[in-house]
Amino acid sequence: MKTDVIIIGAGASGLMCALEAGRRGRLVLILDHTPKIGSKIRVSGGGRCNFTNRQVSRENYLSQNPHFVTSALARFRPEHFMAMLHEHGIPYHERSAGQLFCDESAQAVVDMLVAECQRVSVRFVMECRISEVRKNGLFVVDTSQGTFHGESLVVATGGLSYPQLGATPLGYSIARQFGMKVTPLHPALTPLKFSPGDLEVFGPLSGIAVNATVAYKGLSFRENVLFTHRGLSGPAILQVSSYWERGSSFTLDLLPGLDAHAFLLEKRGSRMHLATLLGQHLPARLVKAWCEGHFQSRPLNQYSPGELQAIARSLHGWEIEPMDREGFNKAEVTLGGVDTRGISSQRMESTSVPGLYFPGEVLDVTGQLGGYNLHWAWASGFAAGQYV
Ligand SMILES: Cc1cc2nc3c(=O)[nH]c(=O)nc-3n(C[C@H](O)[C@H](O)[C@H](O)COP(=O)(O)OP(=O)(O)OC[C@H]3O[C@@H](n4cnc5c(N)ncnc54)[C@H](O)[C@@H]3O)c2cc1C
Repeated sequence: MKTDVIIIGAGASGLMCALEAGRRGRLVLILDHTPKIGSKIRVSGGGRCNFTNRQVSRENYLSQNPHFVTSALARFRPEHFMAMLHEHGIPYHERSAGQLFCDESAQAVVDMLVAECQRVSVRFVMECRISEVRKNGLFVVDTSQGTFHGESLVVATGGLSYPQLGATPLGYSIARQFGMKVTPLHPALTPLKFSPGDLEVFGPLSGIAVNATVAYKGLSFRENVLFTHRGLSGPAILQVSSYWERGSSFTLDLLPGLDAHAFLLEKRGSRMHLATLLGQHLPARLVKAWCEGHFQSRPLNQYSPGELQAIARSLHGWEIEPMDREGFNKAEVTLGGVDTRGISSQRMESTSVPGLYFPGEVLDVTGQLGGYNLHWAWASGFAAGQYV
């Protein structure tokens, strides 16, 4: 069967690319090996889909080519996606730091994208296993449901995270097959695992959450940190996991916004135990474990001025060296991907293989937590859709 555009991947970027190409009158076919359209959109944001952020800029993305995102982000703003939701009567709200979520279910976003695709006659072939891709004048895709020929081929297969939802490395293999480079791939926006020593002391705190500031190499994130039975999770940890390199440590400020030294000095003559005082600001179980790992809790009048200073420093800068990050089945996204130095930033098209496009997470573009990954999928899918 011949068509104008073949898109592999019925996810966020593939759907956006399809509907934009369809609006231009292109004949579009989407192939996906799973039975469901937009599976990751559906589970995103805990089922409420943090679909974008009011403030999106290139600073919110990691890539070996940091300027790459500028053109696509300038052409597809958060307001564009919000306008689509308005048109479809889908209510949403803002949470902290500009994050926009659906009021009801993320399914509404999938339904909207599918309805927009259907309006411009995009065809879907689901449960379609791809066995070979080649270029023979046209692009040829051999599948379990027949052979398809297209003028343009869009590889919108996403990253490696959540293989249970259909993630595969196909996009990277296609890039390599056509002589393009792929940067190293790592799980990102993922929990971090404690070292064995820390696990013994802090593993039993599983379930405790604190508002803290995580700092690493000049970056800092103030959000919740959650103790798990394997290590640390929560938004601040997921953020830092994208930057963290094995063998290095980050710091945790357990009392952000409070001058711990002044707070301790106020009580320096008191017989109150350190743990009791810290319990005014932190969960008692955390304080107990933290004191065990750092400074034994004694009456405050037994610490020297130097010790109080050291305690304050540790509370604001608890140094943690994780053993590792959790793998792709717990990661929200993949760090790294198809090297953008071989891709047009305006068209998402390979600069060496005309007609071959790579929008979305398959590229070496990774957003911070907060709606930036889906926004990249919309913006890059839209950019590709204007040219395919
Ligand atoms: C649990 C979770 C929560 C998330 N929450 C958010 C959030 O709230 N906000 C946010 O911005 N981002 C979030 N993300 C990230 C976001 O979902 C992705 O970055 C985004 O969906 C990427 O879009 P994409 O089109 O590149 O890939 P995807 O949406 O992953 O789509 C890829 C498609 O390609 C198909 N495919 C893969 N391999 C093959 C193959 N071999 N043959 C055929 N088809 C194939 C897949 O089945 C899938 O349908 C979350 C991710 C996860 C895992």
